[in-house]
Amino acid sequence: MSFDVESLRAQFPILSRQVNGKPLIYLDSAASAQKPRAVIEAMTRAMEHAYANVHRGLHTLANETTEAYEQARKSLARFINAAEGEIVFTKGATEAINLVAAGLGQSLKAGDEIVLTEMEHHANIVPWHFLRERLGVVLKFVPVHDDGALAIDAYRHMLTERTRLVGVSHMSNVLGTVNPVAEITRLAHAAGALVLVDGCQSVVHMPVDVKALDVDFYAFSGHKLYGPTGIGALYGKAEALAALPPYQGGGEMIGSVSLEAITYADPPHRFEAGTPAILEAIGLGAAIEWLMAQDREAIAAHEHRLYARVREGLAGANWLKVLGEAPGKGAILSFTVDGAHAHDVAQILDRYGVAVRAGTHCAEPLMRRFGVTSSARASFALYNTEAEADAFVEALTRTQAFFA
Ligand code: PMP
Repeated sequence: MSFDVESLRAQFPILSRQVNGKPLIYLDSAASAQKPRAVIEAMTRAMEHAYANVHRGLHTLANETTEAYEQARKSLARFINAAEGEIVFTKGATEAINLVAAGLGQSLKAGDEIVLTEMEHHANIVPWHFLRERLGVVLKFVPVHDDGALAIDAYRHMLTERTRLVGVSHMSNVLGTVNPVAEITRLAHAAGALVLVDGCQSVVHMPVDVKALDVDFYAFSGHKLYGPTGIGALYGKAEALAALPPYQGGGEMIGSVSLEAITYADPPHRFEAGTPAILEAIGLGAAIEWLMAQDREAIAAHEHRLYARVREGLAGANWLKVLGEAPGKGAILSFTVDGAHAHDVAQILDRYGVAVRAGTHCAEPLMRRFGVTSSARASFALYNTEAEADAFVEALTRTQAFFA
């Protein structure tokens, strides 16, 4: 398989638009990625040709829609080497993590410990704070080194016989740090704890094999994966899902309902109450099939090259501070510019057609850890080019000059 960025780009209609009279340079894919025509067309085709509610009908359209929806589940399972029954469709990573926290919360007690890291997104912090507030569960946070790497030695010492779950992001959405999930999991399991991985950023940029990692739960969102919003997934090991009480009640998640009692369906349907995001699931299935058909190794190498090119271009910039340069990190550049607020930096860059994110990136504890209140973030995806990397360096240099 060969890698040709121009032919990939051509499949993303939005990339040909202009912003403020300049060609769009989209460096905000870590927040949400753009969609290839394969995804847009799969969703349109479903709406135009085979759409009805799933699982309930005996008519042709209902059956075809159910088939497409379940086919998407199969694609997701194949994508991360899971079994089909281990994939729960959720609204996104946030709902997936809330689902696990709500379920586990039913059996946790005061003093039970949850180990998280300082680099977690709020989606993997706040649901656990709910359990701290309601149950008196103790939250511990693994520190982050100055270079953005996780302090694994400290982690080892945080595990106790009270640790019930370890929650860790596979790749930080701010630092780009890739955490050693297999090792973290081995240590957690030796202590008798479950492991939940926030795979929002990692699934996009690296092959993920949940069986090889041996994690109990793995959560991700469709919209960062070149798929639509409103859909994501929770992988749960068959036995972990079987042990988890349902999250929401309603249609489709029951075995039977009477006025006196209810029984639940088996996973994954137990966790999919109500009409699901059918079109979005089909769109995500299409995104994953599309991604799996690309040369993912070449894409990862390309993204890393773009990051390195930008770092090199900014090597002499003494006004720039980069958050997180851990070895093996992903192509995410979080930075501050001396004398300028990150929001202002993002706004000026927008004048050059460059889209970056600015703010806390839903990671306030991490911002505090690095002594900043916000940062700007440029994130690289498979459709970004070397010319865009150079144009970003140029635009950022001009932006800094504007504030100097
Ligand atoms: N975790 C990480 C690492 C993320 O980057 C994000 C999205 N910014 C989330 C969780 C939350 O994802 P969503 O908002 O799609 O549920």
